[in-house]
Amino acid sequence: MLRARCAALNVPLDLTQVRRLYAYLELLLQQRGRVNLTGIRDPAQAERLLLLESIATVLAVPNLRSASRDDAGLRLLDVGTGGGIPGIPLAIAFPHVAVTLLEATRKKVDFLQHVVQSLALENVAALWGRAEDLAHVPEHREHYDVVTVRGVSGLTTVAELALPFCKRGGLLAAYKSLPLDGELQAADHAIHALGGRKPRVMPFNLPELPAQHCLVTVEKSAVTPKQYPRRAGLPARRPLAQR
Ligand code: SAH
Repeated sequence: MLRARCAALNVPLDLTQVRRLYAYLELLLQQRGRVNLTGIRDPAQAERLLLLESIATVLAVPNLRSASRDDAGLRLLDVGTGGGIPGIPLAIAFPHVAVTLLEATRKKVDFLQHVVQSLALENVAALWGRAEDLAHVPEHREHYDVVTVRGVSGLTTVAELALPFCKRGGLLAAYKSLPLDGELQAADHAIHALGGRKPRVMPFNLPELPAQHCLVTVEKSAVTPKQYPRRAGLPARRPLAQR
């Protein structure tokens, strides 16, 4: 399924990539009991929701594809990557994209480093830390072409954690479920204050994925003011729009 579907998405996978994707899934499902890496147990469901859905990000971020062809040096950061979703499947499918994984829980970072070593992933770096801290480090701030965030928080909080990492012209891609109800309107003020344009919503529209799953993308158009993100914990405890 995976190889055929990815080919249809114009993401051809060679045998090494397919083997790596399944080897990753096996490690993830094996170790999920020790560290809380994913709620999914069923391998067929994991193949769809973890591997395919991660790679399907290309539908909203087509330049992932061109980076794999002409080595454009695209940089992607996955904030709150947990067990590596979507960052690791993306790194395997797009080996010319430089992927940085950011995760606050040390045990999860240990797992990610184990994956990077066992699968010999040359385009992945795993960092232990909080987005609120790392976003103020000059080598990471306004540095990434694409910032992905899945399952971390509501859109207002996600915008504060992720947009400071995006370059101007870069893109935030957040994985969400429809209906978004008031989430877009509630995040409107924060996104604008952080330098983002109006969000776009793109349902994946693939038969293998739940119909309600979608990507919310925000293009960064202005530099983020220096005071953001606020100190660790505040973006989640007091989302900007609700002050
Ligand atoms: N993206 C993964 C994990 C989602 S769980 C997936 O979709 O499966 C959310 C993860 O984000 C947790 O592992 C948590 O430790 C991490 N996280 C939450 N807030 C964070 C922050 N401010 N900085 C870095 N990581 C954070």
